[in-house]
Amino acid sequence: MKVPVRHKIQSDETLLSWVARLSRTGAPLRENDIINDLLGRRRARLHPYLPSYISKLASAIHISEWELLNNHTLYQFFRFFGLDTLGTLRDSMLSGDATNTVIFAGLPHTKISFFDGHKYCPICVRLGRYEYGFGYFKIHHQIPGVEACSEHGCELVGLMGGNLGYDRHLVLPSCNDRMILATTKQIEFADFANKIWQITQHAEEPVDYHWVYRSVLSSRGFITQEHHLRLAPMLQEMNAYYEGYSFGRTLGLPISLQSFEFIGPLLRNKTHYPCHPTKHLLFAFWLFDGDASLYASKPSVEPLEEPQIKTNLEQTAHVLSLLKEGMSMNQIETVTGKSRSYIRRVAELNHIPHQSHATKYPQGLRQLVVLRAKLGQHRQKIADLLGVGLGYVEQIISSTKGLVPWRKALRVEERVYLATEVLKRTREQHPDWLRKDIKAAYSVEFFCLYHHDRALLELLLPPKTKPVPPGKDWGKEDARLVSSIQALAQVETLSLSQIDHAITGHGLLRKSIDKLPMTRNLLIKLGKFKLKAE
Ligand SMILES: [Zn+2]
Repeated sequence: MKVPVRHKIQSDETLLSWVARLSRTGAPLRENDIINDLLGRRRARLHPYLPSYISKLASAIHISEWELLNNHTLYQFFRFFGLDTLGTLRDSMLSGDATNTVIFAGLPHTKISFFDGHKYCPICVRLGRYEYGFGYFKIHHQIPGVEACSEHGCELVGLMGGNLGYDRHLVLPSCNDRMILATTKQIEFADFANKIWQITQHAEEPVDYHWVYRSVLSSRGFITQEHHLRLAPMLQEMNAYYEGYSFGRTLGLPISLQSFEFIGPLLRNKTHYPCHPTKHLLFAFWLFDGDASLYASKPSVEPLEEPQIKTNLEQTAHVLSLLKEGMSMNQIETVTGKSRSYIRRVAELNHIPHQSHATKYPQGLRQLVVLRAKLGQHRQKIADLLGVGLGYVEQIISSTKGLVPWRKALRVEERVYLATEVLKRTREQHPDWLRKDIKAAYSVEFFCLYHHDRALLELLLPPKTKPVPPGKDWGKEDARLVSSIQALAQVETLSLSQIDHAITGHGLLRKSIDKLPMTRNLLIKLGKFKLKAE
């Protein structure tokens, strides 16, 4: 298909925008005809930022597939955050259909819903009209959660998509929208998202965000010396940083992200799984204090998280080699800086004879210490009973192979026994208590059994009761729906179902309107809802 020069795709234009403009070229073509010409099918959906059919579009307009994917969709944005390690999202965008791209990007699993449609800045559109004769949808405005144009400092306007919206129609932004000033934070967030989008476009590999986050967190004092996260102060700072930011608006960040509960799983290695890029935006905007370039920094040579075990092992091997060479303990202590007892322990564990204690205590005494230790007696008690020093007892316990884990197992068994007795007694004294009551009152005993003998814990606890979901906060939901409806563009032209879909109302506008008085009044005012005859 030959595309006139003035209808070339703009460098930051979405694909739907370009196809829609093309359909307005010269003698107006029917939408179905243009879709048929370009894609070889009568009907097609074009997703705002993860559209498919890219191979066909690329060959129709003689632009490389990569250029379309890279500059006119948010593919790179998703890939950068590890959501296309297998290349399935890319393949689906090149050839598959619209539903698959969303599935391959893992969006249904994220369980967060963003505005479903196209977003645009009223000023950008007017300027485009003035400069080129047309306004168009820009790809970076489509980043989920972004609700402002950082260039013009105003709020974006949304045109609804999805089954109830226009997605099978080729629409273009309107030039008549009112400009609403955005807040400073909204603008800064949009600017940050835009800069990250530019970084992702030039990134050859997905970012090693674990490294980047750990590195910045460490420099800001949010990682302890034992490499643990200091989550509570982190959340406190994030809450302060986002104070006043309006979550839950139609085009912006969903209310479900306001608790920042996703931070733990995002940062911990054990519970980690790739998550929605906007969660990264939200976290990094705070962590980097708006400096997007930190994502582009390269990992240094120094490992941040390598535990010390490695060096300890190396040190033990060093001490052992010196012992084997016949060096005295004094000399080894000077060379390695390790304590006497450490060196002695290495010698005894490896059956290397040494002189310390040997002259002070007879060999038979050593066997008595081992015997009492095996019975689980306390170190101090053994020392008192046998008339030796505590250090000598500790030295023998730690240098006898298998004795430390044996004593540990004995202690666990004892704790399990005591916890079992406590829980049995509690069941007798409080037959009406639920599992959670026991857990709250005797958490130490509960978790002792939970960690060491879960089957026994199940036997001791009362039967499970069905969880009762917490009641809905209708007042809060009412306020959210009202502000979401007020933020909708061209609300007069939308049907009640379309409004419900746009504001993620889950059908409440029809099913539960009686519980939502403010929403009901607003809808009556807008003429979407008739007053019932009394
Ligand atoms: Zn703008």
